[in-house]
Amino acid sequence: MRDNKKLYLVIPCYNEEEMLGITNEKLLEKMKSLIEQKLISNDSRIVYVNDGSKDKTWEIISGFAKEYELVQGISLSRNKGHQNALLAGLYTVSDYCDITISMDADLQDDINAIDEMVKKYHEGNEVVYGVRSSRKKDTFFKRTTAQGFYKIMKMLGVDIVYNHADFRLMSKRVVKELMNFREYNVFLRGMVPLVGFKNDIVYYERNERIAGESKYPLKKMLSFALDGITSFSVKPIRMVMALGVIIFTLSIAMLIYSLISHFLGNTVLGWSSLIVSIWAIGGLELLAIGIVGEYIGKMYMETKARPKFIVETYLKDDEDDNN
Ligand code: UDP
Ligand code: MG
Repeated sequence: MRDNKKLYLVIPCYNEEEMLGITNEKLLEKMKSLIEQKLISNDSRIVYVNDGSKDKTWEIISGFAKEYELVQGISLSRNKGHQNALLAGLYTVSDYCDITISMDADLQDDINAIDEMVKKYHEGNEVVYGVRSSRKKDTFFKRTTAQGFYKIMKMLGVDIVYNHADFRLMSKRVVKELMNFREYNVFLRGMVPLVGFKNDIVYYERNERIAGESKYPLKKMLSFALDGITSFSVKPIRMVMALGVIIFTLSIAMLIYSLISHFLGNTVLGWSSLIVSIWAIGGLELLAIGIVGEYIGKMYMETKARPKFIVETYLKDDEDDNN
């Protein structure tokens, strides 16, 4: 068991007035049970982050914060989206807590997995990922698109945890390291694995939303997926370049083919030069775009100014500090 065990639950909320009453009741119960089991300290907190809601969400949160010692509230100046709201919450609490757990306000993430997450923290893990054990409760469409997305990400070489969304435990240390990732487009499930450290997985069954509706319509889901890909991988640019090489190679085959046709005399005048030019120019153009893209990709990654490494341990004698 570790000594540092002040847990802050961070929960982004956007138009969640229908959910918050139930959520708060369940979470208070959970926190009390965790405190009783001595898994977390009694100054742990539930922090709701209001992401510029248009309904009564903030009124409800501030009510809770007044009524319950365990509850705190953060309100953003306007709607900035789930990922930013989450990050805002994590950064704001990072000075006060030892452990953070992020989860959705709709209780789709099973709060009973929290016990195991905290236990894994006490075993020395700095990150514990909540992973869905199945997607039985998802619609066929959501299931196939989501799994397709994870597969594409893997193919593009992005290190993400399969079937893990944003239900995760991070130690204070990890959140502090995350603050050094200066990118504007936030895709947390890609960033956390980059931080590294000892980590583990907890499986849970994802529930249906009890009240209110999903704030992730198809349009937002697609743009989120695209964001994830373009923020972490320059492989699409390489694909353009590869395509250019392939087409240019084909143009040489076309050159040979049209020359043969030309000398066999079964072509219309001008066909050979025309067809070869089309292939060669098309291929060269794609290749050139790919090369330019390669530099743009580099620049893009440079502008993120991500940390190049993170030191986990530095073994030295105490005396070394005196020199
Ligand atoms: N959310 C947010 N800002 C937004 C959209 C959503 O803070 O602009 C929150 C929302 O209140 C919820 C979580 O993000 O706590 C996940 O949203 P939702 O449950 O609608 O997504 P789904 O589970 O359908 O993917
Ligand atoms: Mg949800």
